Amino acid sequence: MKAISILEHHQLSRTESRMEILELLLNKNVALSEKEIKDELSIKCDRATIYRTLNTFVKSGIAHSIINNDGPLKYVIKKAPEDHVHFKCQVCGHIMCLPQIIIDKIELPDGFTRTESNFLVIGTCKNCN
Ligand SMILES: [Zn+2]
Ligand SMILES: [Zn+2]
Repeated sequence: MKAISILEHHQLSRTESRMEILELLLNKNVALSEKEIKDELSIKCDRATIYRTLNTFVKSGIAHSIINNDGPLKYVIKKAPEDHVHFKCQVCGHIMCLPQIIIDKIELPDGFTRTESNFLVIGTCKNCN
């Protein structure tokens, strides 16, 4: 799907920063941090704009964020609606979605409610193995 049609589909107005950041995320198979996005953008975008844009994408379900065990939050296009496993490679440092591995419903003790689940597997990726 193209950036422009994704924005239209989610009823988001088309701004240069939204288009550029979405385009960048669509072209990557690995998750990117705010800083990596800033470094790779061809247009000048301040941190606040990038932060705001990513938040908009997360809220509308276009992208999701991945908790990184020892680094900044990473962002990636959301390809699967269900909670799935994420993988971090210790060799190349890439963090990616494994949408084929769905996280089953987790039974929490009484009185606890779930907002989201984060499941990060750390190891060596296919490319590095
Ligand atoms: Zn790797
Ligand atoms: Zn994911």
